[in-house]
Amino acid sequence: MNRRTVNAWVAVQCRSELTRFSYLSPPLKPMDVEIRVTHCGLCSSDLHLIDGHWGDASVYPQVCGHEVTGHVSAVGENVAGLHLGQRVGVGWYRSACLACEFCLRGEEQHCAGLVATCTHGEHGGLADYLYCDSRFVFPIPDELSSEQAAPLLCAGVTVHTALKRATWPGMAVGIVGIGGLGHLAIQFAAERGCRVTALSSSPHKERDALTLGAHRFVDLSKLFACNQVRNALDYILVTSSVACDWSAIVDMLRPFGTLCFAGMPPPVTFDIAAMMYKTLSITTANVGGRQDIVDTLDFAATRQVRPWVQSWPLGDVNHAIRQLRKGRVHYRAVMHVGDVQSPTL
Ligand SMILES: [Zn+2]
Ligand SMILES: [Zn+2]
Repeated sequence: MNRRTVNAWVAVQCRSELTRFSYLSPPLKPMDVEIRVTHCGLCSSDLHLIDGHWGDASVYPQVCGHEVTGHVSAVGENVAGLHLGQRVGVGWYRSACLACEFCLRGEEQHCAGLVATCTHGEHGGLADYLYCDSRFVFPIPDELSSEQAAPLLCAGVTVHTALKRATWPGMAVGIVGIGGLGHLAIQFAAERGCRVTALSSSPHKERDALTLGAHRFVDLSKLFACNQVRNALDYILVTSSVACDWSAIVDMLRPFGTLCFAGMPPPVTFDIAAMMYKTLSITTANVGGRQDIVDTLDFAATRQVRPWVQSWPLGDVNHAIRQLRKGRVHYRAVMHVGDVQSPTL
């Protein structure tokens, strides 16, 4: 394959607005595919990379974008199972060693050789083409549009994998925050048969929470509302990244309950004695492995879990980023990169 000029949007330096940038495509390795990108979600992790919050993970010019959908437009000589024109997606990572303990367990996200899609100088999906290992590229089920599938590849798999591993039908599950992650978590938990309590300090989101499948809404800013769910929940998934009255949240858990963080709020202090009194656990959610991505896409496709998307053309990416920073996206931002129906070969 001839190398081509890839057109991308980049942060040229820490915290800068994105500008146009082009780079020469890498040589296509035998297991790699080229994807003609049609859609790319914006995730709060992209903001952390633009802002340089994660040290050397950001390399400027920084090409973000790790919720990528598009069509296969070239395949390396050893690629199996993917064909030209196929609709596919890529999430947080584009490659791993496939031989270590964690890769063999299907937990590729913990591979020491993991290559993330848009960190450490890798060029992500806010571009017209993306290049990655074909074994980390996933077919999109027919039931999902490419726009809907994009947010499932990071936000969706993160919350679905946490819920899949820790919840079961009938369980009393709380979801803290109704935003990019939370609106998906409510849908996944409800579709898994859990009794879902949406917890938010934005009372105007109550109607959305119930529409998404929550069985009840609790206004976190109202003490009496919080008191009504004391000792009522088995599992609470925190999807927001803002500070919260964590002691009130812990009070809501029943004995042996679990508090899981998928969002990244500021550092938190817990009263260990209060947790010990009920034998509570604290854990976190990571994106999940390759099988988890397949499971998430399949579950969403067959159970009618659909991201609520606000979309813009890629040229409006700075406007979309400003909306995301202000918490005004309803509820997941997706950039339209190009409406190609068939790949440009
Ligand atoms: Zn993400
Ligand atoms: Zn590995």
